[in-house]
Amino acid sequence: MAEQPSIFTRIINGEIPAKFVYQDDLVVAINDINPVAPVHILIIPREPLVNVYDINENNVHIAGHMLLVAAKIAEQEGITDGFRVAINSGQDARQEVMHLHMHLIAGKGLGRIG
Ligand code: AMP
Repeated sequence: MAEQPSIFTRIINGEIPAKFVYQDDLVVAINDINPVAPVHILIIPREPLVNVYDINENNVHIAGHMLLVAAKIAEQEGITDGFRVAINSGQDARQEVMHLHMHLIAGKGLGRIG
């Protein structure tokens, strides 16, 4: 668990204004403030898990749900040519916000990873 409320927890709690492009009991989704593609959405669990290292047998349903929501958002946003999902976890991945989130990136040819 994160030690202090992350910026995403503050967004989820309404302390920082943001438009939710999707929300349900487990997750919210917002547009990334610094998009790298025409579509760049962050899918964020309400539970403040830090990253994939925090996934375990008791909360794996949240990780699965994040993928389900990615598919729902792709349909909702009319993304038919494909998309990428990515979760940065830890230092080597350059994770900046220590609250688990999945990037959903689309809207142009994305090239190879790396
Ligand atoms: P990561 O490197 O995976 O931790 O990515 C964090 C992402 O959060 C970056 O793409 C930032 O642009 C994005 N971000 C940070 N603050 C906000 C915010 N207030 N609203 C939307 N996106 C944000």
